[in-house]
Amino acid sequence: MKSDFETSEKRHLSADSQPDMLPDYSGGMSEAERALLHGHVDGEVGGEGDGQLRDEGDGQLRGERGDATGGLRAELGGQLGAHVRAALAWHESPERSQGWDLHTHTVFSDGQCTPSEAIELAKNAGIAGIALTDHDSAQGWSEAEKRARELNMPLIRGTEITAEWGHTSVHVLAWLYDPTNEALAELFRTTRMNRVRRTKKMVEMMGEKYPITWEDVLKQAGGTAQTTIGRPHIADTLVAKGLFATRSEAFLGPVSSKSEFYLPVISPQVDEVITTVKDAGGVVAIAHAGSFARNKEILNDQDIRHFADLGLDALEVWHRENSPEQRVRLLKLASRLGLLATGGSDWHGPHGKPNLLGENLTDPQTLQAIVTRGVLPVVE
Ligand code: AMP
Ligand code: FE
Ligand code: FE
Ligand code: ZN
Repeated sequence: MKSDFETSEKRHLSADSQPDMLPDYSGGMSEAERALLHGHVDGEVGGEGDGQLRDEGDGQLRGERGDATGGLRAELGGQLGAHVRAALAWHESPERSQGWDLHTHTVFSDGQCTPSEAIELAKNAGIAGIALTDHDSAQGWSEAEKRARELNMPLIRGTEITAEWGHTSVHVLAWLYDPTNEALAELFRTTRMNRVRRTKKMVEMMGEKYPITWEDVLKQAGGTAQTTIGRPHIADTLVAKGLFATRSEAFLGPVSSKSEFYLPVISPQVDEVITTVKDAGGVVAIAHAGSFARNKEILNDQDIRHFADLGLDALEVWHRENSPEQRVRLLKLASRLGLLATGGSDWHGPHGKPNLLGENLTDPQTLQAIVTRGVLPVVE
């Protein structure tokens, strides 16, 4: 399919930001690494702060994953419907070359690599395919499509949409929708404008205590109107000024959602987002639905049932912020409500977040169901 729907200007980080710190998946993986990657960690599986894979710069993955799917299928047995049981079976012994990473970010939002670099890294990682899901934007799609075709790397074009429900901030993954749909484009424009307003206010408040300006933050965001602005760009500014060592450390301080400087983004309601994406022919999932990382209160079963009635397609189960207990809950819910169970890394680049490209994947059968439902084809 032609991609003349976008005329986005190509953006690049400087050449020296090309990550060389990512794990090298091209060589053979040790059994230990395989186990870590796929969550077959013996012994305790932890809750928060636990379950992190770490790349210490030498391409080795270290740490434990809080992925409790090993042995889960036996335990849940007949409680799961066929499609969820099949997904779980795949995740017990995942074949990396068949798996898709359905959740990644680039410089078009708060990731650190260009779409081209993301495609190249996915190719090197040996995964079957990748979805680009920048926040509230489809601006990175055309560059990604071009590189995907050049490298024969299957690509799903998507977006992670900021939404809210009651007191809960919700991220909605939308894949394979018609990018010319005006209602969705308008929704993105509005949220991006609200993001700018809110982030600017946060910077003004922070400016009383930290020597940063809005211009500094815009510079960190790449200096064009195309990037979806957010707190990560404030964090990067604090790092650039030498006030914090890493983006994640800034997120533990003034950038945190618990900080005195925090303001929420005015966002559309989840039900509106779901119906808008469905009208645009897309496939919709609730991202990291069991994560307490940004919310005191997460979506309850009734909320998710309501969204399923509106056409929600999937729950993102395999995500590092979902605890083992939440994964079990989400798998049971998906089963009961006829939802698909997906996985994704939520990768933001080498120093964006600790999340590694391909650390969580979606199985081929689930992927096929998604592709069948979406109006846009996979780029391959
Ligand atoms: P915002 O959407 O502006 O409230 O900013 C929150 C976003 O920051 C989420 O989408 C996170 O994925 C993203 N983020 C990027 N890097 C980090 C990090 N190191 N720690 C926490 N959140 C991060
Ligand atoms: Fe993000
Ligand atoms: Fe998210
Ligand atoms: Zn994300």
